[in-house]
Amino acid sequence: MTGKKRLSVFGATGSVGSSTLSLIREHPDKFALHALSANSDYHSLAQLAQEFQPSCVVIADEAFYTPLSERLSGLGITVLAGQKALEEVATQKVDLLVAAIVGLAGLAPVWRAVEAGQNIALANKETLVAAGHLIMPAAEKNGATLLPIDSEHNAIFQCLRYESQADIKKIILTASGGPFREMSIAEMQNVTIEQALLHPNWSMGPKVTIDSATMMNKGLELIEAAWLFDRGAEKLDAIIHPQSSIHGLVGFKDGSWLAQLGIADMRVPISYALGWPDRLGWQGQDFDFSQALQLDFAPIDGQKFPCFSLAKQVLGQSAEQAIILNAANEMAVAQFLAGEIGFADISTIVERALAAGDSGIKAHSYEAVIALDREIRQR
Ligand code: NAD
Ligand code: MG
Repeated sequence: MTGKKRLSVFGATGSVGSSTLSLIREHPDKFALHALSANSDYHSLAQLAQEFQPSCVVIADEAFYTPLSERLSGLGITVLAGQKALEEVATQKVDLLVAAIVGLAGLAPVWRAVEAGQNIALANKETLVAAGHLIMPAAEKNGATLLPIDSEHNAIFQCLRYESQADIKKIILTASGGPFREMSIAEMQNVTIEQALLHPNWSMGPKVTIDSATMMNKGLELIEAAWLFDRGAEKLDAIIHPQSSIHGLVGFKDGSWLAQLGIADMRVPISYALGWPDRLGWQGQDFDFSQALQLDFAPIDGQKFPCFSLAKQVLGQSAEQAIILNAANEMAVAQFLAGEIGFADISTIVERALAAGDSGIKAHSYEAVIALDREIRQR
């Protein structure tokens, strides 16, 4: 026993993965890596493996198995490839599994990790949006712990640490409003990919950055919060807070509100999850309270951000509706990023998919969730 926490980081080459590894780099005495995974970027994965010396690496896209193996030969690191391997490694016992794959591709390893009763630091919100109805009871049954990394949920998680569920009146997530907060609806029709990728406060992967520009992100986060904190739609809300200093607020029955503040850097919530139940220090720029600090709040304009309205409609409805919303949005965002559709088409595609409904597949099992998701994408 080394006394170090053993971690697996899924989605190690992404934005959340990189932030996680930068914290681990600062604390070589506290953490050891069991596994690192990536989709196809074998070059970055090999570099990370050389630096962090995990027991194994998994490249999801099997086409990159050979070049990855060649890069890591002689280092004593087991190299695995493919979806099955990803799921298998998710069941291998660690102290904490960081789930930072983007999109529904992250569901399979999270599901296996939940079944295996792992402690999971969850960044991947799509997983709970599509399968929260299965994941939450399975986590309870198998003794798996979910520590939210998404900054708003991490904020709420911190605010609720010593509180009783019955005292909560309202949970509010904040939203920066993204790059188009000040634009008119007319101006937003023709924005470019480059404009949509320019988030004012956060540096994130492309999918969540576009979701922030459409504000689908905040809608997905409301659904994620409903599962994590077991609240109905009437107890959940989101507001614009352009400074991204407060990430979440909880109102209690006695009129008190608790809020969590932190700089807009994912290393704040990730460090909370890595250190939990203790706090993990890290070398970062903090607030400078010798300067004036402004905290503004405003309601979200649902007309201007139809993706947010669509997600809000789905909140508290059937699991199938949430799966359709998520799948259609992932497809539409990918098409937008490929230059195939315009920004305003994203909400139109999601709206049409929701109106068309499901073909009768009921999302009663993990396999059914995957099947319904596939069907929507093929459509
Ligand atoms: P990213 O695009 O930067 O990284 C995604 C990671 O997942 C990469 O390592 C990639 O190799 C891997 N991956 C992608 N497709 C895969 C597949 N099919 N199979 C296996 N691995 C695959 O994404 P990100 O911004 O780090 O976001 C990760 C998740 O965290 C998302 O669900 C996002 O919504 C959530 N999140 C991100 C942030 C942020 O600041 N980036 C904040 C809150 C929540
Ligand atoms: Mg968030």
